[in-house]
Amino acid sequence: MVWFKKPRTPIETAQPSRVPEGLWIKCPGCAKLLYNKDLAASLRVCAACGHHFRMSAVERLRSLLDGPWEEHDAGLSSTDPLGFHDTKPYRDRLRSGELATGLKDAIITATGRIDRIETVVGAMEYGFIGGSMGVVVGEKLARAIERAIERRLPVVIVSCSGGARMMEGTLSLMQMAKVSAALARLDRAGLPFVSVLTDPTTGGVTASFAMLGDLNIAEPRALIGFAGPRVIEQTIRQKLPEGFQRSEFLLEHGMLDLVVDRRQLKPTIAWCLRFMGAREDGPGADAGDGAADAD
Ligand SMILES: [Zn+2]
Repeated sequence: MVWFKKPRTPIETAQPSRVPEGLWIKCPGCAKLLYNKDLAASLRVCAACGHHFRMSAVERLRSLLDGPWEEHDAGLSSTDPLGFHDTKPYRDRLRSGELATGLKDAIITATGRIDRIETVVGAMEYGFIGGSMGVVVGEKLARAIERAIERRLPVVIVSCSGGARMMEGTLSLMQMAKVSAALARLDRAGLPFVSVLTDPTTGGVTASFAMLGDLNIAEPRALIGFAGPRVIEQTIRQKLPEGFQRSEFLLEHGMLDLVVDRRQLKPTIAWCLRFMGAREDGPGADAGDGAADAD
């Protein structure tokens, strides 16, 4: 998949691999060659050193949910509201994102079961314009959260994003407020939200919903921050400490609640949801049809 071809790691850039692309991949953590199929079977975690490779949104849902899921709003796509051009037209970027991922934007929202607990889940797709949040991502998340409120279900959002999508300008920044407001309604409804932060979670996504979880759980060694380290160093004119903006550093400094190995993520989330009162079966009937849904 796209992001395996050019991982942005020092080892990979220093010594480009000469094996055919897609079959084997060199682990940036321990430099071992890993067979791609084995890697897929181990949730894209290196069996030797525990390095967490990036996952697609579909792989993420597969890893968290018991079985098939019901996808929501799959047809929503950006209208390119600003007619934006940078080095190439935004429309072309949307098209190549769609070709690379099979998705219409950078997130899948769905309802499924995490260890039998019916849950509304969002999984961001880094392969679609760096997992950036534009109007579609914000809208899909807001609708997913509203669906969770209607059906009295918990919400889990897995972030993997470079932040707000600059090709949609202010409209993409407005999504931060929109999703945060929806989460405030979820909170008032007394329903849990677990935020899972994966490598990377930055910019407007960190600055809004990714840090608003009742629990904020990160994968090991994930880059999590708002601005990049270079910008911060230039602003405060100080050298940043080792491991700055990585999960473990943030946990130590109280910004996260847990750092959890991906292979333990599903049972951990299920345990947390149960602790916060989520029911195993969810409501039997669909709450969709107007009138009184006696709870
Ligand atoms: Zn490794």
